[in-house]
Amino acid sequence: MPAKIISGKDVSSQIREELKGRAARLKERGIVPGLAVVLVGEDPASVSYVTAKAKAAEEIGIFETTIRMPATSSEEEILKTVDGLNRDARYNGFLVQLPLPKYVSSEKVINLISPEKDVDGFHPVNVGKMLRGEPCPLPCTPYGVVQLLVRSGYSPEGKHVVVCGRSNIVGKPLAALLIQKKKGANATVTVCHTGTSNLPQFTLQADILVAAMGAPQVIKADMVRPGCVVIDVGVNRVNDPTCPKGYRLVGDVDFEPVKEKAEAITPVPGGVGPMTVTMLMMNTIEAAERKAGLLS
Ligand code: NAP
Repeated sequence: MPAKIISGKDVSSQIREELKGRAARLKERGIVPGLAVVLVGEDPASVSYVTAKAKAAEEIGIFETTIRMPATSSEEEILKTVDGLNRDARYNGFLVQLPLPKYVSSEKVINLISPEKDVDGFHPVNVGKMLRGEPCPLPCTPYGVVQLLVRSGYSPEGKHVVVCGRSNIVGKPLAALLIQKKKGANATVTVCHTGTSNLPQFTLQADILVAAMGAPQVIKADMVRPGCVVIDVGVNRVNDPTCPKGYRLVGDVDFEPVKEKAEAITPVPGGVGPMTVTMLMMNTIEAAERKAGLLS
């Protein structure tokens, strides 16, 4: 039987409805949650992510500002913008859209963001808190993956989760979230990467398989155990002259054949992508609630 499709759009809508309620409750106390997004240059993928963030914020009732800076902005100018946003009380949180121009140190920029306003969850203080299981803004994509699993009835508790990819924004933080001794986590986690010899030996052991490699359709049906739950984080452009844009988006999973074997699977697009934006909104609302003393 083909797998159940885990819709990130549906789960996102459910969370966004909850967030609308929380934003409304903050407004009753005279607090308007605020988010700023800094966009340097006009990279098309970054522009589309930033547009999606602005749209989601508006839908939920978050005051949002997109600060557009030219691609030629110096590191000093970007750091100055960050410094200004740290002090600007209108914004409970902000982020600088990555990637930045090559000559700008993303590390320096991220390290300057005040941890309470770091709604991307990338600041080293927040990464440390997350690892220790302390309250903090969680990185949006891994946070979204966990919510997608739990809210679709596939809690990772007691399961063997195999994560393919060990980046600082997806693989590593996802593993850190899943090993916590907490409800909605408490999983046994294996992390694979390009240094893993015999990848299928590990993927075949997964109750839940997360592909976050940025490698188009690398996870084939013979790498997946029947009944596995498959979460595809990958977003890859592959040339396709039959599409109006000349390309189409595919995940890291060979969707059609894997769908025939898995218990449940996320599509690309429409799976993890919408969750990432939604969890950014969650972090913004939580930052506002924390500041108002409504959340620890
Ligand atoms: P990344 O920084 O390039 O990291 C990729 C990771 O996958 C690395 O750890 C790499 O191993 C590993 N890897 C690559 N090819 C592999 C292979 N053939 N076998 C085993 N491991 C392999 O990428 P990322 O930023 O984590 O993003 C991963 C994918 O998720 C991309 O397609 C990205 O576009 C997508 N993404 C989607 C969202 C969303 O919201 N949907 C958000 C973030 C990212 P090494 O460490 O050994 O190099």
